[in-house]
Amino acid sequence: MSFRISDECVACGLCALACDSEAIVEYWHRYGIRIDLCEECRRCVEVCPVDCIVPAAADDSAAPVQPPAKSKSA
Ligand code: SF4
Ligand code: SF4
Repeated sequence: MSFRISDECVACGLCALACDSEAIVEYWHRYGIRIDLCEECRRCVEVCPVDCIVPAAADDSAAPVQPPAKSKSA
């Protein structure tokens, strides 16, 4: 089980600051969770002001597994 960030995200960045595993990345003014780095400590879930970090179901194909790498020109 991992987590994903839903569309309710207001891009405050608190989750990325709380994550010690650098598993939360910003891209295109959105945030995503890298499940390969996430240690499921739930720290991000606790700090999110809008409760938009939710469990990602194993069959949740909409979950961003790997956010795209930042473009150098962005
Ligand atoms: S659960 Fe923990 S390790 Fe995973 S993204 Fe949230 S703060 Fe980072
Ligand atoms: S703490 Fe919640 S609202 Fe803020 S950037 Fe993270 S997921 Fe989005």
